[in-house]
Amino acid sequence: MRPSSVEEAIRLLGAHDGARALAGGQTLVNVMKARAASPDVLVDLNRLEELRAISVSGDTLRLGAMATYTQIMASSEVDVSRPILAEVAAQIADVQVRNRGTIGGNVCSNDPTNHLPPLLVALGASMTIRAAAGERTVPAEEFFLGVYMTVVGEGELLLSVSVPAAANAADGFSSITIGRDGTCLANAAASMAGDSVRIALGCVDAVPVLLTPTSGDENSVRQAVEEAALDPPSDVHASAEYRRHLAGICAVRAVEQARERGK
Ligand SMILES: Cc1cc2nc3c(=O)[nH]c(=O)nc-3n(C[C@H](O)[C@H](O)[C@H](O)COP(=O)(O)OP(=O)(O)OC[C@H]3O[C@@H](n4cnc5c(N)ncnc54)[C@H](O)[C@@H]3O)c2cc1C
Repeated sequence: MRPSSVEEAIRLLGAHDGARALAGGQTLVNVMKARAASPDVLVDLNRLEELRAISVSGDTLRLGAMATYTQIMASSEVDVSRPILAEVAAQIADVQVRNRGTIGGNVCSNDPTNHLPPLLVALGASMTIRAAAGERTVPAEEFFLGVYMTVVGEGELLLSVSVPAAANAADGFSSITIGRDGTCLANAAASMAGDSVRIALGCVDAVPVLLTPTSGDENSVRQAVEEAALDPPSDVHASAEYRRHLAGICAVRAVEQARERGK
């Protein structure tokens, strides 16, 4: 089904049990091809231009859920207010995925190896979700519930992601991937403002792990990672122990990058 307004999309999602929103299709279509999901109804969001807008209002950068990675990379609003978003979007997979994949799909699928969930947690983003009953805004650290699970429920639509606009923000991101553009084995995003340091680790738990070390020096960062007592998954690509080790390295690198930028 191809709604022509957000209201119609929400009505369709609410009217059909198990209906799923279709954004860039870069995860959902693959999941359907593998028969891991077979929704009876797809609600295609691709005609909803209002969900693609990227704007700055006051000290908030707002990214519509259907903004693609390519759009984010080319956006002057992003470049002026939070350029780390464009930098990280440019690291996702290949040009085809970047042309179709959306920020909304990235966070709603909550694959723990995705780039954007930890980044948005570190930046203190918030997500605006609408259902027939009304709208709510949820901080990024409460948005992710588990592997492929978020607070977006049946009949609900993620409308936008808001990020504090801070041109002089000191942000960093570091990942270790399988091959040059491959899936992350570990990643970390960091954001520093004055004495406050926020680090979010990806790939080591079902949801991004938020750390707030007392300072950005290497010992404090390593200690914070240690104290998080991470219990990451083991798979053919990396053992739990190796992922834990990589998480520490990514955290230190992300903070170093942020600190350099803050000088
Ligand atoms: C080869 C390949 C490599 C990849 N590598 C990476 C990588 O390294 N890093 C990375 O971060 N990602 C990677 N991805 C995933 C990619 O970023 C996807 O684009 C993303 O995870 C999903 O975005 P989408 O717009 O394609 O969403 P879709 O696949 O259309 O949807 C994904 C899920 O989100 C739901 N959804 C989407 N939008 C909304 C909304 N507005 N409201 C409510 N629910 C919604 C859908 O119902 C579905 O359940 C890769 C994908 C491929 C195919």
